[in-house]
Amino acid sequence: MVPEKAGQLMVIGNWKMNTNVPEGIKLASKIRELLSGKAYHEIEVVLCPPFTSIAHISDVLSGSDLKLGAQNVFYEKEGPFTGEISARMLLGLCQFVIIGHSERRHVIGESNLDLNAKIKEVFSQDMNPILCVGETSEERDSGLTNVVVKEQIRQALDGVEDINGLAIAYEPVWAIGTGVPASFAQVEDVIESVIRGELATCYDDVISRITPVLYGGSVSSSNVAEFLGHSSIQGTLLGGASLDACEFVKIVDETASHLQ
Ligand code: PEP
Repeated sequence: MVPEKAGQLMVIGNWKMNTNVPEGIKLASKIRELLSGKAYHEIEVVLCPPFTSIAHISDVLSGSDLKLGAQNVFYEKEGPFTGEISARMLLGLCQFVIIGHSERRHVIGESNLDLNAKIKEVFSQDMNPILCVGETSEERDSGLTNVVVKEQIRQALDGVEDINGLAIAYEPVWAIGTGVPASFAQVEDVIESVIRGELATCYDDVISRITPVLYGGSVSSSNVAEFLGHSSIQGTLLGGASLDACEFVKIVDETASHLQ
């Protein structure tokens, strides 16, 4: 489950389309080994490998506090949808599913309506969606950041009455994989005025406060501290940094040092 107590933090590793099965097993085993004996059980650490490795990595992580997530799902349960994977197929393997990563929005062409259906399906299987939102550099330059992110939240959560278990990752597209993270001030502004503001409007103030909101975009062990220790951010979503076991564990360690 997502953290239930205020002050708990999450670190999510999105491996994207990297690692074959042996490479994925090696990476997950190394992360498990490096984290063993460390007091990270107060932090939700989630690995999101490609679908092909999920069952294998589930075995690798068995008996540890590490959790597994998928990078995507389809919004139907089963049927004639060649090449797709449903949330139902992931039951027993994953607790989390990333929904609406910018690469799925901008490379694959997923719409807010698709993501809305996916979130409903993930919740219907008692799994936890991690909804990614964020503006492109063109949208930011045109002053559209708030409008875009607000719309992404509103449409993705339309008709979702209970969002207990949801986490939201603010990932400005221009910061993903560029080596140039957003500044804390930019992140805080969007999280507080748009994301939490929209949650308060669509739900209520309590839900707005307790829903974990993460930052993602070129986070590394050398800059993660900037995003921790603030009540507006409950952790990070990592792309590149999650493919290096030592770097990933350094970020978990840094996160652990910011537990309240
Ligand atoms: C991501 O893919 O969600 C991401 C944040 O990537 P990176 O950390 O490489 O910028």
